[in-house]
Amino acid sequence: MAVARTREYTARDAQWRTDVFNAAREAGVLACVVCGSTENLQADHIIPYSQWEEGRYMVTNGQIMCSYHNKSKGATVGPTRNAGRRERYFSS
Ligand SMILES: [Zn+2]
Repeated sequence: MAVARTREYTARDAQWRTDVFNAAREAGVLACVVCGSTENLQADHIIPYSQWEEGRYMVTNGQIMCSYHNKSKGATVGPTRNAGRRERYFSS
């Protein structure tokens, strides 16, 4: 499992988080993508920034997760630890 690098939390990160929340709200799906919870929600990178730096600030690389599932996912790809492989998102 990849170890997340330490990094500074910048204003751009905060803006990305806000944008992901707004996108989910506008789509009417402001809930954890795993369990559907609407509490303790966080913005998560579908493909972790440690694996794909260009996607770090892409709203389309964001999804909403509750703190529990975000924490259990860690720096893995996809909505859950075992559900996704990077190839899934790049196969044409
Ligand atoms: Zn959840």
